[in-house]
Amino acid sequence: MISVFGSANMDLVAYVAQAPKPGETITGREFRTIPGGKGANQAIAAARAGADVAFLGAVGDDAFGPGLRAALAEAGVDTAGLRVVSGPSGVAHIVVQDGGDNSIIVVPGANGVVTGPAGRDAEVIARSGALLLQLELPMDAVVAAAQVPRAAMSRAEVILTPAPAVPLPAELLEAVDLIVPNEHEAAALTGRDDPRDALEALLDLVPEAVVTLGARGVLYGSRDGARLHEAAVPVRAVDTTAAGDTFAGALAVARTEGADPARALRFASAAAALSVQREGASTSMPHRHEIDRLLEGL
Ligand code: ATP
Repeated sequence: MISVFGSANMDLVAYVAQAPKPGETITGREFRTIPGGKGANQAIAAARAGADVAFLGAVGDDAFGPGLRAALAEAGVDTAGLRVVSGPSGVAHIVVQDGGDNSIIVVPGANGVVTGPAGRDAEVIARSGALLLQLELPMDAVVAAAQVPRAAMSRAEVILTPAPAVPLPAELLEAVDLIVPNEHEAAALTGRDDPRDALEALLDLVPEAVVTLGARGVLYGSRDGARLHEAAVPVRAVDTTAAGDTFAGALAVARTEGADPARALRFASAAAALSVQREGASTSMPHRHEIDRLLEGL
């Protein structure tokens, strides 16, 4: 089982010719509400890729809460650990301009009042093979979650997507087994622009690291000396939204199934390559049979 302690946001997406300037009102072409948030995205990606997944987080008592729960449940994610708190759910207000440029305002809402896991939630994490974390919840809560496996003497490995990029406290780094930044986050965390240099610097902080490089694939390193580069599967990308979340969710699935690092990278790259060929975030995430079929053909 995989547990995901993270954010759930309703993405409110307006499609426009050009984003409005301050003080301007414009007419948009289309509007969509799409369940998202890095936590919920990774949970849905892992469930579709074949794992039993428990989501731990919070939604508000507004109209978006039930929709977020339903999207997780529809993907087969266990939502017993999804709390309802008083106030609004997290939202991401997204303006997509023609040509694909986005501007995004995330208002954390319920995500902003999540506290460290206790009681049943801590037990769920302790029973897991992997715990997926991102940084869209309060840092104190993320640190507390990361510390659960060791405190419970559990085998759950702690996998952190360090997004959005913020400085990471030492207590968090001490509890992380594998960090999975994209190249921009890796540069922000280490001060090294070259991803290979950033990978080496990350291994001073945590035992294993994967740096994702978009269409250029991924770099992997571990403190025991392994270094790998897995090329991306060559596909025609139409929408790379949540490619990184799809990658992280699928990577956790392969690792909890016992795949070696090379095999786990290949599995996650295949899942991400399938997702970039379709529009949307959770809407684009592939099912296990699709990933297996793509891998058989490679
Ligand atoms: P996002 O923020 O859009 O979720 P990200 O910046 O976190 O993505 P990327 O490094 O862009 O993450 O992509 C993650 C992985 O997805 C890549 O390492 C690669 O395996 C796959 N991927 C991304 N873009 C492409 C592409 N154009 N073709 C094939 N695979 C891709």
